[in-house]
Amino acid sequence: MSTGDGVSSNGHEPSVHDVVVVGAGFAGMYTLYTLRGLGFDAVVVERADDVGGTWYWNRYPGARCDVESMQYSYSFDPALEQEWEWSERYSGQPEILRYANHVADRYDLRRDIHFETTVQRVDWDEDACRWVLQTDRGTYRARFVVMATGCLSTTNVPRFDGAETFAGPTFHTGNWPHEGVDFSGLSVGVIGTGSSAVQAIPVIAAECRELTVFQRTPNYTVPARNQPLDPDEQAHWKQNYRELRAEMFAQRAAMVQRLPDIEDAAKDLGEQEFNERMEERWEVGGFTFYRAFGDVVLDAESNERVAQFVRDKIGEVVDDPEMAAKLTPHNTIACKRPCLDTNYYETFNQPHVHLVDVSATPIERISPAGVVVDGTEYPVDAIVYATGFDAMTGTLLRMNITGRGGVRLADHWDAGPRTYLGLGVAGFPNMFTVSGPGSPSVLSNMIPSIEQHVDWIARCLVDLRERSTTTIEAEPDAEAYWVDHVNAVADLTLYPTCNSWYLGANIPGKTRVFMPLPGFPPYVEICEDVASDNYRGFALA
Ligand code: NAP
Repeated sequence: MSTGDGVSSNGHEPSVHDVVVVGAGFAGMYTLYTLRGLGFDAVVVERADDVGGTWYWNRYPGARCDVESMQYSYSFDPALEQEWEWSERYSGQPEILRYANHVADRYDLRRDIHFETTVQRVDWDEDACRWVLQTDRGTYRARFVVMATGCLSTTNVPRFDGAETFAGPTFHTGNWPHEGVDFSGLSVGVIGTGSSAVQAIPVIAAECRELTVFQRTPNYTVPARNQPLDPDEQAHWKQNYRELRAEMFAQRAAMVQRLPDIEDAAKDLGEQEFNERMEERWEVGGFTFYRAFGDVVLDAESNERVAQFVRDKIGEVVDDPEMAAKLTPHNTIACKRPCLDTNYYETFNQPHVHLVDVSATPIERISPAGVVVDGTEYPVDAIVYATGFDAMTGTLLRMNITGRGGVRLADHWDAGPRTYLGLGVAGFPNMFTVSGPGSPSVLSNMIPSIEQHVDWIARCLVDLRERSTTTIEAEPDAEAYWVDHVNAVADLTLYPTCNSWYLGANIPGKTRVFMPLPGFPPYVEICEDVASDNYRGFALA
């Protein structure tokens, strides 16, 4: 079957396809499954040697998903939903990777995934109306390209003077050795206190001799309360998956919480009622904590009240008041990605765990023997960079994509990413981004968000095939409107008030633009509406 341009899946030219998908994580695998089922000749290129994306690379100690297992899974096949057994409330990385492998095997996906293949250039060939992808394993040509490259797939390693002189091993949480790392007997330095560090620190602390954490910004974290998954709960989800999935899709982050969302204002509640509600959610654990009120990320006064509750908890948990003070954040709560933890603050009560505040005096340099801050050398045998990612745009921009007229995506996005619906880019016909900037993506449960995007793209490709349409391209006006829309929605919230990776603020020199779109259900409605209205805002040719 072909898209109507003579490019055949039975092709004598193995490098020519209807669709090339970049990335074999959850987005790429589902894209391949769906497009194959619709008769398209689709192939996936993937730089790793196996499937899993984020869960392939992020194998650091304690890596675990913050979305509960029963909701962090595909919904496209009821048989898959029924047969897979999750073991914990939140799945650890090895279990999620096993699930990804199971999906790849079950649907025989690997036969169309070209592993260890890194994309180096992507150019739109105007005359042939095709994309040309140069990889380190040869050239691919395709009518369409789907960027299933993930939101957090290019690591951020800050440039510290002397880093290359360090005598011991260094690791990044987002590129962890597959054989694991044995920290026993070692003095370990961890740089960073984001979600990855919050998970890794307690586990590394349990193994190593000394742990020194270099903290630039203290972080709020709420107990995850992970535990073995109750078999009755699993059975309940399996029996009611259709209704529960529909309920998930109706939530603003595409996930159902353990306690009902409450929409009143935190600032309006009496002391006792406020504390009771917060205490209950602190005990239940997870993101339900942030859904105790409707205005936690909307109103500064309400936000401060919730933040103070967590600050008080840090004071209760951490024995040494000086340590507690250093660990206590003062910025807006939840304007950076909220963290969930297992014994994070408790870890700092252990005598072999040290905290170095690098907010006022940044890390000066790395020496052969350790990390130097304000003239003091902190000796370590190994360094863990838990320093995050060049999020949402990093991987796309590194692929050297050029569109119509040879315009570089890097230039088109010079003042921040510009997309229409987070799905298409003006001047880059037939290129789709799954969970691209301008879509709910990282502000939602990623797997439902991925499924929604891939389903939309698949419907679009079928519509184009039926109408013998060869190109679809976001119109510049629609793109400009969408960029304004995303900014306007973000400006209604407190999200832009922190130096977060949502804004690109973690990467020196990166333009600060709020990249994801808050609110999953209204977004889904807009996407449906656009498709039903003959792809309004896209030019079809
Ligand atoms: P991150 O949230 O960006 O945290 C990076 C940390 O490194 C921050 O504490 C940052 O400090 C620090 N840092 C960066 N550059 C530094 C420098 N030059 N000097 C000192 N400190 C520096 O990265 P992440 O923890 O890998 O998490 C990224 C995202 O991945 C999360 O927000 C989440 O969406 C996802 N994730 C999810 C899970 C999960 O589901 N459980 C787990 C891990 C990650 P500042 O805060 O001062 O910038």
